[in-house]
Amino acid sequence: MAFALNSYPITYRAKFFNGKWDEEYLEKPHRTPETEAAMSAEERDKIENSRNCYDDMPLVNYTSQYGLACFEGLKALPQKDGGLAIFRPDRNAARFSKSMQGLYMPPFPDELFLKACIETVKRNTALGFCPQYKPEWEKDAFMSADSVYIRPFTLAEGGIGVNISKEPWVLIITTPVSSYFSGGNFDTVVTDRIRATPRGTGWIKGSSNYTIAAMAKHEAVQAGYMECIFLDAIEQKYVEEGSSCNIFFYLKSGELVTPELGDTILPGITRASIIELARDRGINVSERKVAIEEALEETKECFVSGTAVGATPITSITWKGKKVIFNNGTEGEFTADIRNTIKSIQYGTLPDTKGWMMRVI
Ligand SMILES: *Cc1c(COP(=O)(O)O)cnc(C)c1O
Repeated sequence: MAFALNSYPITYRAKFFNGKWDEEYLEKPHRTPETEAAMSAEERDKIENSRNCYDDMPLVNYTSQYGLACFEGLKALPQKDGGLAIFRPDRNAARFSKSMQGLYMPPFPDELFLKACIETVKRNTALGFCPQYKPEWEKDAFMSADSVYIRPFTLAEGGIGVNISKEPWVLIITTPVSSYFSGGNFDTVVTDRIRATPRGTGWIKGSSNYTIAAMAKHEAVQAGYMECIFLDAIEQKYVEEGSSCNIFFYLKSGELVTPELGDTILPGITRASIIELARDRGINVSERKVAIEEALEETKECFVSGTAVGATPITSITWKGKKVIFNNGTEGEFTADIRNTIKSIQYGTLPDTKGWMMRVI
C-alpha cells in the first residue's frame, strides 16, 4: 500500500463564489470494499481511477498552468479502543488558511476545514472504507500500521493569463496509507539544488515548492539514497530540510537541534510535536541555524519528521562526496523513543495527555 493513491469514494468539494464557500460531498463510483477487493487489478484500477476524475472542472486553470495551489496532509488513525481519531487537525486548518492567504487566495475557514475532514472520513467509514486496528501493529511500534491519509488542497478557477486564484475550490480526498519510505536504506545526500529562497514561498505548503523537491529527490533515489537534504539558498551552508520533511540532529552534547523557522522552512506539525515531547523529557531543544559541517561532526542521531514519514531515522549523510555514518548505521535510542511515543499517542496506546487527537468516530 505504502504511499499510493487509492482514493476512497466520498470527496468533499467547496467553491468560493460571491464571497462565500458552497460545500458539497460527492459520491464517486464504488462497490463495497469486499467486492472491490475481489476484483481483478485491472477492474479495481478502473474504478479507482474513475474516482480521481471530475468532468465538471476546468483543465486550464491557474493551478495546472502556473502552480498556484497549496495543500495539507493529515492522518486519521484507527484507535486501539475502536474508531478513528485525527492528529492535531486544528494545526493543519490554521496552516492551510495561512498558506492560502500567502498565495492571495480567500482563506478557507478553520471550522469548515475541521468539519469537512471529519465528515469526509466519517462518510467513507460508513461505506466500509476505513482501516481496522490490528493489535499486531504494536509489535513493530506501528511501523507497518495503516491509516487514512487526508489530503485537502486548492484548485484554481479556469484562466490562461498569469493571475492569482480569487475563486478557488477546496477539495478533500482520502486514501489509505501505510509506511512512506519503502526502501530498506536510510541514507541521505545533500543536494546542491535550492528548495526555497528568502522572500519566496518555502513557508507555504505550496504545490510549486515541490517541483525542485521532486527533482532533487528523484536524483537522490537514482543515486541510491532514501532522501535528499537541502541547504540554505544564500550560503549553501546551513541545513534546511528534506524534500517533504523537517530534520532533527541529536548532538553528542545532548542538545536536540532543528533548523529555526523562517520564510524558507515549512513549519511542520510533527516538528512542533517532537520539540514539545523532547522538552517534556528535559532535553535541551534548540531551534537555530545548524551548519552542515557542525551537523556532520557533532551528530549522534539524526531523523526527519512529517505526517507521512512520522519520525524516520537518517543513518548517514553524504556531502561533497563524503559519507558520514551516524550511530553505526542504525537507529538510535532517542530517535526510536520519539518515533514510538508519537505513534503510540496517535494509535491510542499511550494516553493523549496533550489533547492532540480529535475523535472522528
Ligand atoms: C508538509 C511538509 C513538512 C512536514 O509537515 P508536517 O506538518 O509535520 O506533516 C515538512 N516539509 C515540507 C516541505 C512539507 O511540505
